[in-house]
Amino acid sequence: MRKKTALVTGAGGFIGHHMVNYLKSLGYWVRGADIEPFEFGETAADEFELVDLRGWDACLKATRGVEEVYNLAADMGGIGYITAFRADVARNNVLINAHMLEAARENGVARYFFSSSACIYPAYRQESADVTPLAEEHAYPAEPEEGYGWEKLYAEKLCQYYTEEGKLDTRVARFHNIYGPLGTFEGGREKAPAAISRKVALVEDGGEIEVWGDGQQTRSFTYVDDCVEGIYRIAQSDHSQPLNLGTDRLVTIDELVDLVADAAGKTVTTRHDVGKPQGVRGRNSDNSKLREVLSWEPQITLEEGLRRTYAWIEEELRKSGRLPQVRTLSV
Ligand code: NAD
Repeated sequence: MRKKTALVTGAGGFIGHHMVNYLKSLGYWVRGADIEPFEFGETAADEFELVDLRGWDACLKATRGVEEVYNLAADMGGIGYITAFRADVARNNVLINAHMLEAARENGVARYFFSSSACIYPAYRQESADVTPLAEEHAYPAEPEEGYGWEKLYAEKLCQYYTEEGKLDTRVARFHNIYGPLGTFEGGREKAPAAISRKVALVEDGGEIEVWGDGQQTRSFTYVDDCVEGIYRIAQSDHSQPLNLGTDRLVTIDELVDLVADAAGKTVTTRHDVGKPQGVRGRNSDNSKLREVLSWEPQITLEEGLRRTYAWIEEELRKSGRLPQVRTLSV
């Protein structure tokens, strides 16, 4: 049987790398594209293009001859990064998303997936730690995260216009805090689960780690295997409106620290730095629509996902010599 063909942009990044693996496991022929190669080993993509997708020609070349596009390329990072570089983040992502849509249309792509974010939801609905889960229709009236969130919201609109005018069949998911192995865990772009895993791995048992904010801010977290399965299910569905892709288990950042410490088998205390950015006070995903459309929702528990993520980060730190090698007893 002829293989289905797909382009994954951002294939050198965290979710893109897992997406390539997922599509390969389904028997797809996959082209990956990214401005950077994959940081943690080899890509499984059949073809990999090192390209700057802010440029029109690069988008046109990357989208040639494929049936499906999974657009996961974006200039992004954790809350420290996206609040410090709003102009660059917004401009870079506007260029990627506007050019990718039109290039996919010009090349006759059958299905186009866009990775939006829970950052599009209005700040006025996220002022309490005990937040009401965010349903898709809560996006408007709009007051998204400055820079990164505004761009995502407008790119969602572009997808809507292309679909409504019959130019390109698009699907959109709003990701809620995706975490897992093979994600960046240092350097400023890392998110809370990876940053906390790194800090816990590097501190001695009983030691203290720094946490941004007062630790009472809340979030829900989604393991990357659930994310890529959800992306695929949404892309193949008939639902062209944006859908949340997240879990609805709300935890405080301090609870997240405790769960990571459990995964590490350590006890840690926290020192809160309230001068650092913490983002919105509380954010949770309302999965009613996701369940209704897909008869599915993320499955992997936070404990299990953090156990796998922590183990991978600890191993990376050992490989780079920042943690001692585990000694095995010889008999
Ligand atoms: P990531 O940073 O690991 O991956 C993004 C990739 O895009 C990177 O490899 C980067 O090099 C690439 N890229 C950036 N600029 C580019 C350019 N000009 N040309 C080509 N490639 C370029 O991030 P991720 O976590 O894998 O995120 C994937 C997508 O999901 C992004 O659209 C992101 O906004 C979205 N998202 C992620 C989360 C999350 O929790 N990880 C949450 C909400 C939304």
